[in-house]
Amino acid sequence: MKVTVKELESWLREHREEIFANDAVGTGCFSYSPGEVVWAVTKECNLRCKHCSISEEPADELSKEEGFALIEEAAKLGHVKFAFTGGEPLLRPDIYELIEYASSFNMQVVMATNGTLITDEVAQKLRRAGLERAAISIDGFGRAHDRFRGVDGAFKAAIRGLKACTNAGLAVQLFSMVTRYNYHELPGIIKLANILGLWRIYLIYLIAVGRGREISDACLSPAENMKFFEFILEKQKEVRVWLKPICNPQFWAYLRSAGLVDGYEPEFTGCTAGITRFHIFPNGDVTPCAYLPVKAGNIKEAGLLDIIRGAEVFRALRARELRGQCATCRYKDSCGGCRSRAYAVSGDYLAEDPVCMLHEDAGE
Ligand code: SF4
Ligand code: SF4
Repeated sequence: MKVTVKELESWLREHREEIFANDAVGTGCFSYSPGEVVWAVTKECNLRCKHCSISEEPADELSKEEGFALIEEAAKLGHVKFAFTGGEPLLRPDIYELIEYASSFNMQVVMATNGTLITDEVAQKLRRAGLERAAISIDGFGRAHDRFRGVDGAFKAAIRGLKACTNAGLAVQLFSMVTRYNYHELPGIIKLANILGLWRIYLIYLIAVGRGREISDACLSPAENMKFFEFILEKQKEVRVWLKPICNPQFWAYLRSAGLVDGYEPEFTGCTAGITRFHIFPNGDVTPCAYLPVKAGNIKEAGLLDIIRGAEVFRALRARELRGQCATCRYKDSCGGCRSRAYAVSGDYLAEDPVCMLHEDAGE
């Protein structure tokens, strides 16, 4: 690492409040109480992303009334984030009504979007409806982004959407995939975010589910993932935008193992799936995470709270009944491994996370 541990430690201390503030779209596989309810309102999309996790889902969608009931249930969890995603959520005609209804409760109302459909008018409408923050996906520059997202002009349209959101007073962050295909694009994306004054980039490890299974060779190996951690720590010193790895809970274990967060103990829970994060697919299926298609129940048949309290998958995740290396790891409680990745690779959501280089260091 070019940057010394001491320098990073002092940087992390200096920026502690903003780094650990609960002000992003998504909990970031970290931990913010009381958590996040994510509703994928539609599987419809105007892009054809290589990695799409939802492409194989059934086409039926919850009705507006069922959506309202879901929102009411989510609000009972407390000041959760209520996140709208898809597919592309703006393709749902009643999206503004849904946002407005969600924002009438004491929740943070946020949205993950590909950004391409956001004009100034759309951004203002979103703001008026009560949206607080938007995360826009950027996976590369110009044609590199277009290739990844499967549609020419996607980059230009996403940047227009991003600027429109900022102009309308919405807080904006980036979601960027981290794969072997676009790894070289990361410095440019980080530079762009910094120039635009954005305050968060969620750097998302590719979980090979849905269409992503076809590009599983693009997933970083454990050694490449460690290099990625080093890369972002080096970059972090140069930029104000907070670089946050997602689907990668061992980053927090890595910070600990490197002695970078000694002396203060943020509330790391690592993988939040089924603990503080609950995902609802367009057809109402409830799962612990967007990338973990283990059905706990369906909103059409039971209330969200009953599903969360009663389903075996949520109980096992809350209890961290993990197997393999994760079971005996000293970082089990603060990392727990990515349960989606474990499932994607082994078919067992409680299995050890296969992309971890901290095993030896981590074992008791
Ligand atoms: S399963 Fe993976 S992507 Fe989902 S919350 Fe856990 S670490 Fe994040
Ligand atoms: S062994 Fe599992 S719990 Fe431990 S650091 Fe690795 S992924 Fe996290």
